[in-house]
Parts: sequence; structure tokens; C-alpha cells
Amino acid sequence: MYNKYAYEKYVGKNNEKLETFSKDYIDFLSRSKTERIFTKNSVELAEKFGFKNIEEVKSLKAGDKVYSLNRGKNIALFVIGKEPIEKGLNILGAHIDSPRLDLKQNPLYESTGFALFDTHYYGGVKKYQWVTIPLALYGTVYKKDGSEIEVAIGDHEDDPVFGISDLLIHLSADQLQKTAAKVIEGEALDLTMGSLPLKEGEKDSIKANVLKILKDKYDIEEDDLSSAEIEVVPAGRAREYGLDRSMIAGYGHDDKVCAYTSLRAILEVEKPERTSCCILVDKEEVGSIGATGAQSRYFENLIAEVMNLKGEYSELALRRALTNSRMLSSDVSAGVDPLFLGVNELKNSAYLNKGIVFNKYTGRAGKGGCNDASPKFIAHLRKIMDEDGIYYQTAELGKVDQGGGGTIAYILANLNMDVIDAGISVLNMHAPMEIVSKIDVYEAYLAYKTFLIKG
Ligand code: MN
Ligand code: MN
Repeated sequence: MYNKYAYEKYVGKNNEKLETFSKDYIDFLSRSKTERIFTKNSVELAEKFGFKNIEEVKSLKAGDKVYSLNRGKNIALFVIGKEPIEKGLNILGAHIDSPRLDLKQNPLYESTGFALFDTHYYGGVKKYQWVTIPLALYGTVYKKDGSEIEVAIGDHEDDPVFGISDLLIHLSADQLQKTAAKVIEGEALDLTMGSLPLKEGEKDSIKANVLKILKDKYDIEEDDLSSAEIEVVPAGRAREYGLDRSMIAGYGHDDKVCAYTSLRAILEVEKPERTSCCILVDKEEVGSIGATGAQSRYFENLIAEVMNLKGEYSELALRRALTNSRMLSSDVSAGVDPLFLGVNELKNSAYLNKGIVFNKYTGRAGKGGCNDASPKFIAHLRKIMDEDGIYYQTAELGKVDQGGGGTIAYILANLNMDVIDAGISVLNMHAPMEIVSKIDVYEAYLAYKTFLIKG
């Protein structure tokens, strides 16, 4: 099962389960483009599987299923094990934020016959990929009275879409001399919002018209945008990809594909030996910072709460629980792309259709900033994956000195637990349309389930 294409298991076989799972994922991804909505939809799904909000339970015992929410952007789920939690948890951790454009706090302006929204990009984006594609707006506006208004425009079939313009080729002589990093500048990523005035002849009347629509339709005033988080993401649903329909094209596979497969895995765990946990975090694409990122104390505090509800809390027991835990940092890997072979060392690269990818380390240059998983832990994972017939591969993030990146792995490993990166190969990572293979999605889900039960 190691380092082989998973064709033997699927090609020419009855793949009903895989196809059903893919359909479910395509639907969930299409409806869950931001961390907020992903969290909300995760709660809805978890409740169908019998999970309860931890704030509503008085005590916990083996077999109980609970979830916890952090500021609407971060969710953790638990299936309580038979062993004391002090013996450690089996944890799946993924992130649910994806590269995108955020509206600035004072976004709206008018220029030469148009009203526009100013944005600030979030995470690592190739800016030129975000122009001349249909875009949607999702987010939350808080009014001074504490009320919350949800915004979602661009994915319903009757909605308008938005976009960012690019220069026509006919006048691009100067633009095309620029490097790709500069061909579209960060400050040029402004969204076209309208072109008609509220009243002809008045100054800034096109802007006024946009404000009137926001007021009429959503009860949002211009100042309210200063206490809002509105994200600009590609419009449209995820789709099957390729004539053989073997892949899935969509926005936000990084890292919602690992988040969804991890979520599905924990939803189906019943009465495990060790307590199962799945934590889905925000802010990975900008360094895992803040209250809802992986560096937040939220996770440690929550384990303490869970132990307390099970009657097992002490500071020492909590420290032991963290030390004895094992974790898969479920995050995507850079799949080998036949059009860009030069960036990979091919025997240590991730391939589509070879199953889940284990990265002992990520990082850049001399492994800078990586988590470096223990070989003993890797041997244990090899054993349980082989036992359950799960396809897996090992990889690095590109050739040495080609670039690099990181995940949340080292952050949880800092709590002194065993952690390894384990995720799904992606093509076009961070582009508005990313690609994964259906086989890998399904194999990752199986691998995550095996880890929670036997890891
Ligand atoms: Mn990621
Ligand atoms: Mn990423």
C-alpha cells in the first residue's frame, strides 16, 4: 500500500461508497467557503450524528459525543474514550480558512463612474489569478446593538456576482513587462460593486446607490462595515473534474478537504479506547495566530474542560494527557503537476491517486520552521495503515531550496505530543480553483478513521 497508485483498489470496481462520499464533499465544500460557514455547517452535521454542545452537558462518560465552538470560527469535536484522558487523545487537526480577499474596514469608494470595494488579500495568493473571475461575498456584520447580520451574495442562482477587472491585452504593453508578482498589485484588487447613480448629477451618487441597496436589503450602514468581516471568494460550486470524473475542482480544498474528511471520520467513531478529537482551526494561512488560530490557548483550555466534565481534571493530568496524545496534522500536500515537473524531486513527492500523504517534515531551506515527526510514530502509522489496507505515500514539499511552507503541526507538537502532517495531494494550491482526486479524498477519510480508532 506504500507509494503505489491506488488503482487496484478502485479501477473497474464498484465505487459506490467513494462516489457518494465525493458527492457529499462537493456539496459541503460548495456551501462552506469561509471558516464561519464551515463551522456552522459542521455543527449541523455533527448534531445529526448525535453530538451535543459541550456547554449543554453536565458530565461526560465513555462513548459520549460533544462539540465546542470558539467565536464561530473554530470547532472541536470529541468522542470520549474508555481509557482515562490522561493516557492521551488521538487528534485530527485541520484548518478551515483558505486564501481569499477580505474587505477593508472602510472599503467603499467611487471612481470614474463606478463604485468599488477595497480589499486586502489574506494568505498566500498569486494576485493575477483573482482578476476576471466571478466572485462572491460572504461574511458577518455586527451592529452597535450587538445584532449580527449575515451576508451571502453571489452563489445563489438569482444573485449577482462581483469581480476585479484586468487591463485589456490591447493596452498591456507596459503591464506585460512587469514580473508576475507585480502584474496585479495588492492595491489593485478592488471589487466592482456598481455603476448607476442614486440621483443623476450628485457627487458620489453611485457609492450612495450601493449604500442604499445595503441599507434596504440588509439594514447595513456604511459605518457598520467597520465592525464586519466580509470575505471575497470565488463564486460557483465545486465540480467533478476530468472526462473520467476522477477529480474534484473547487475553491478551498486547502484545507477544507482535510477538514471535511477529518470531520466525517470522527462523526463515525463509536466508543473508542482512547478519546477521539478533531479540531478545525482558523488563521493557518496567516500564521495560526489569534484566538481562533492553532496557537490559541483555546485547545488546552478545552481539554481541561473535557477532563473536568469526566471527573479527571488536575493540572498534572492535563499535562500528561497532552504529552501522551498523538496527532495527525491534516493538511494538504503539493501534488506533482506534469506541467511543472522541475520543482519536485520525484521520488519524494506527493502524487494524486496514491492516497494519503505523510510529511515527516515541511519547512523551508534546512527544514526551517518544520515539525519533524518521530520515526517511532511513523512506524506505528505504517503498521495501522497496512493492517486496514489504506494507501499512503511519503513526500516533501518540493525540491530542497525550491521554496517551502508550514502547517499547524509544530504548534501542537510544542505541547509535547507526537504529530505528523498527513493530508491530501492538491494541484493549483491556493488558486481560486484547486484540484484533488476522489480516490485520495476517500482514502484520507478511511485513514483518519483508522487513526482515531487504532492510532
Ligand atoms: Mn493548508
Ligand atoms: Mn495553504
